[in-house]
Amino acid sequence: MCTTYLGLRMIASLPEGVDLIGHPRLVRLNPNIPWRTRGNGAVSFEVGTGAGKPSMIGEFQGKGIRSYPDSTGATVNGPDLLELLSSLVEDISHSDREGTDPGLVISNYELPDEVYWTGVRGVHEQEGILELLEDSRCHHRSWGNGRGLIGAACSIAWPGSLVTYEAVSYRKENAWGTPRSFDEDQFRLLDSEHGTFSTSDPGTGRVMAVPNTPCPILAGIRAESPDVAERALLSLDTEEPSGHLVWATNHATDDHISPVRSVREISPFMSVSITGTVASAPRTVKGGHVIVAIDSEGTVDIAAYEPTKGLRETVLQLREGDLVTAVGGVRETPLTINLEKIRIDRTVDRFIKSENPVCDACGKHMKSKGRGAGYRCQVCGATASENDADRVTVRAPDTGWYEASPSARRHLTMPLERLDRC
Ligand SMILES: [Zn+2]
Repeated sequence: MCTTYLGLRMIASLPEGVDLIGHPRLVRLNPNIPWRTRGNGAVSFEVGTGAGKPSMIGEFQGKGIRSYPDSTGATVNGPDLLELLSSLVEDISHSDREGTDPGLVISNYELPDEVYWTGVRGVHEQEGILELLEDSRCHHRSWGNGRGLIGAACSIAWPGSLVTYEAVSYRKENAWGTPRSFDEDQFRLLDSEHGTFSTSDPGTGRVMAVPNTPCPILAGIRAESPDVAERALLSLDTEEPSGHLVWATNHATDDHISPVRSVREISPFMSVSITGTVASAPRTVKGGHVIVAIDSEGTVDIAAYEPTKGLRETVLQLREGDLVTAVGGVRETPLTINLEKIRIDRTVDRFIKSENPVCDACGKHMKSKGRGAGYRCQVCGATASENDADRVTVRAPDTGWYEASPSARRHLTMPLERLDRC
């Protein structure tokens, strides 16, 4: 089941006197973990007694969802809330289904930032999280293998140093599993007209904001500000939704990227940013993927996979000696960085040989003695060095950033258009 829909239903079911504080949070965790759910998302929200002027941040079945900017500090009855929300998890999520392992955590305290950073960049041990929840006197419950507790704890711990927003609309229950009805062209124009991002892929025209899975989500519109996201979502002509909600998220923040200084610091399940010198000629392998090795106290392959589309052309233009910064998730065997983006920092001169040297005595073109070995005249045996051949300079690619096609982008990956602003 879609985690954010469960979150919406929980928020819409909060009892009288338990107020929502701030925006609910949709946090994506390490995208390289093999045993994750598809989007590896976890949601959390703060409740208390509201203070300050409330605003509407969504609605469900005709009833507005109100959020307060602040709370009085009064605490909420954790065990009661755990019972209420647990019954929703059991009613709504497919907690009896293989691979569905929800976890629910209620904490009266903020959890350490480090819990989030490990969850988005590394790997948590389940025992460590259980210890943390006990030490922090959290109320918790889990289903299936209990791994859901990890996501829940990480979402609560998210410090939100970089934040974007997603306004998500949800389908009526009787429409789940049927094709979604919406005006594709409106979605395609949204980013240029409303200041939203990642709504559609300009290259392919694909609308990325509308999933094609049987989940309850109708559309998700992303923006830097909650108001821009919500206004844009509500401007769209779609089938009648059951409701919508504006989430604060870590989408498009690059929070999952660990900057490393050498290949020795790279290990599986990480996503890294590493600067290195191109150490091989690029090669295209089966499936249309393009791979090249880079060196930084050791070598590692970097790969532009077929779905990254235009990024493959960039990698194909690299030459031994170019300096690049590669950003992407690490694959274990063989050790490879799956490029999300790449920056060309410096390029070497590029030549191609246009003509072999001509023998002074005979006036005939000489023959190559082998790669890098110079030339010899077939007639008189005179020799010439490699540099005596005529060479023409080839244009190097421009320095700067290049990114994967938006359709291949991970939730967490910061698009280049945001990179300039952060
Ligand atoms: Zn000769």
